[in-house]
Amino acid sequence: MPELPEVEITVRRLGAALTASTVESALAPGMVALKSIDPPLGTLVGGRVDGTSRIGKMPVVAFSTETGELSLLVHLMSAGRLQLFGQRASLKDRRSRVLIRLADGRELRLREFGTKQRAWAKLMHEATIADDEMVATLGPEAWPAPPLEELATALDQPRHLHPLLRDQRTIAGIGRSWVDEILWDARLSPFKQGSELDSGEVDRLHDGLRVLGEAIDHYERVIEDTIPDKMPMPLQVHRRQGEPCPRCGTTLEAVFFAEHLTTYCPEEQTGGRVLKDRRLSRLLK
Ligand SMILES: [Zn+2]
Repeated sequence: MPELPEVEITVRRLGAALTASTVESALAPGMVALKSIDPPLGTLVGGRVDGTSRIGKMPVVAFSTETGELSLLVHLMSAGRLQLFGQRASLKDRRSRVLIRLADGRELRLREFGTKQRAWAKLMHEATIADDEMVATLGPEAWPAPPLEELATALDQPRHLHPLLRDQRTIAGIGRSWVDEILWDARLSPFKQGSELDSGEVDRLHDGLRVLGEAIDHYERVIEDTIPDKMPMPLQVHRRQGEPCPRCGTTLEAVFFAEHLTTYCPEEQTGGRVLKDRRLSRLLK
């Protein structure tokens, strides 16, 4: 699933390619992909792409139209991609949920690679985007990192760090890949509670958010004009259980937390303890 760094590089590349293009038509072949009714998608016809941005993990495409400034807010969910194509899609492209056709022949598509059809888009007046329920409930952006005090306040909850950091209402932009990297960088257990962090630990977590910016820098170097289907994610520990920790050489371990596999260094994050698989131990009860 695309997280903050992947969405950031996507909107940067799309913005460079799309800005000032004119919209010829707009369609939503995905039955439930367009979650808004007013203004209708057809309002975009004849409009101009003003640019692209990101709110948390959600890309936003901005348009100037006859009825004013509009924003297309996109939620990629687990398997959506926002992609620009040089040629028009056949309507048989079953992966396409929303198609924005440009006057120069190119086409922006919201496509979905899973079978669940969960990705969606909403077209709204730019001025109302901050009031959208998905936007209004977001915590501070994870990158650039919020001020230390704001982060400390956001994390002061009696919940484990792994789900807490992935909760967009706590902090926006982190998912199951980057949470492992941030916790490893900060040398914190995924099972530590947010409300149990001392100030030194909050400091380390704050510093650990740096890995998101480093990932964006990496993408800037290696990704060209077109975003590849599979991102070259510079992950050091996520899903690398069984390999040596890049920092101390201890074998990385993994444990299921709810439905998510989390990878960690037992030497540096859990006081030498290898965590029991909670999913497995629940099954054995
Ligand atoms: Zn280690």
